[in-house]
Amino acid sequence: MNPPVRVLYLAGSGRSGSTLVTTVLGQYDGVFAAGELRYLWQRGEVENRPCGCGRPLRDCPLWGEVRRELPTDRAAAIAAGLRGRLRMRGLPALLRRHRRGVRPVPEHPDDAALADLYAAVARHTGARVVVDSSKLPPYGALVGALPGIELRVLHLVRDPRATAFSWRRRRGLDGDADPELMSRPPVGKAALLWLVWNTVTVRLWADRAPAGYLRVRYEDLTAEPEATLRRIAAFAGVDPAGGPFTGPATVRLTPTHSVAGNPSRHRTGPVPITADVQWRRDLSRRSYALVTALTAPGLRRFGYPWRRGGPAAANPAGSGSSVAVGSGRSAQVRQPASAGHEEG
Ligand SMILES: [Zn+2]
Repeated sequence: MNPPVRVLYLAGSGRSGSTLVTTVLGQYDGVFAAGELRYLWQRGEVENRPCGCGRPLRDCPLWGEVRRELPTDRAAAIAAGLRGRLRMRGLPALLRRHRRGVRPVPEHPDDAALADLYAAVARHTGARVVVDSSKLPPYGALVGALPGIELRVLHLVRDPRATAFSWRRRRGLDGDADPELMSRPPVGKAALLWLVWNTVTVRLWADRAPAGYLRVRYEDLTAEPEATLRRIAAFAGVDPAGGPFTGPATVRLTPTHSVAGNPSRHRTGPVPITADVQWRRDLSRRSYALVTALTAPGLRRFGYPWRRGGPAAANPAGSGSSVAVGSGRSAQVRQPASAGHEEG
C-alpha cells in the first residue's frame, strides 16, 4: 500500500494571505502548490480556467497527467455534489457529528474520485506535501476523512476589518482582464463569514487535534516573512533550507501549477512581502464599527484590538508606504513588483 499523502490544508476565511503562502511553499523542494483543489472540477475542468502556469487547465501538461486518472466526464456532477454537501446551512449538523466523533461530512460515492485526485497529484508531482488552499473548513474536514490522506491544517487569520475591506475591491477572477469578478460581499456579510469560518476551523482542529494544527496571523507573517515561513515549513514536514527567500522579506517566485485562487498566483520573479494596510486609512468609520461589533468574540480570541491602531496587532501600524500582501489595484500602481497577494 502507498504511504498516505500529506496534505497541508490552508483553512480559514478568504483574503488572509493563503495565495501568497501557497505560492511561496510551492517553491520548496518536495512541495506541490495545488491551489484551491475544491474548485478543480468546476473552474478547472468544466470552465478550463488558467492553471498557475498560465495555460488553460486542460492544456497544462501536469494536470493532463493527473486528469487521465480522474473521472473528468463527471466533473460537473462532482462539482455540484460538493456544493451541495458543503453548504453553510449544513454547518450545525457538521459540528454535531464532529463532537460525536464521527465523520463531519458524511460519506458519498464521489469520495473515491476525490481520494484519487490527491493520490494522483502526489504521484505525478513526486511531492511529499500537497498544499491545498481551499480554505473552506467543511471541505478540509471532508478531505481529512478521505482514505490515504494525512491532513495538517494551517489556519491563517487576518484582522477582519482588513479582510472586509479587501473583499470590497473589484477584481477579475483571473486577473484584471477577466470580466467575471471575484465575489464582493458587503462588509457585514464578510464580517459574519470571517467569524463563522474562523470559529469552525478552531472547533474542527484546534480543539481536537492540536498537533496537526498551526495558527498563523497574516500580521505576523508580513512582519517576519522568512521566519514565519520557516515555522510553517517545519510544521508541514518540509526542509526549510533552499526556500525562495533572497532576503528576510523578499522571495523569488517561479510559476506554480495551482488551481483557482487569487490572481496574484500568476506572479513570478522577485517579490517583496509586506503588509497591505490600506484599510487602516480607507475603511470608513461606519464599516469599521460594524465589522468590529460583528466579529467581537473572534477579535479577542485571535488577539486583535477593538480600536483602530490599537496595540494588539503585531504588524507595524501606519507603514502606508510599503504595500504588498493583500494589496489591491492602487497599490499595484504604486509598486507593481510587490502588490497583490490579496485574498487567497
Ligand atoms: Zn500548469
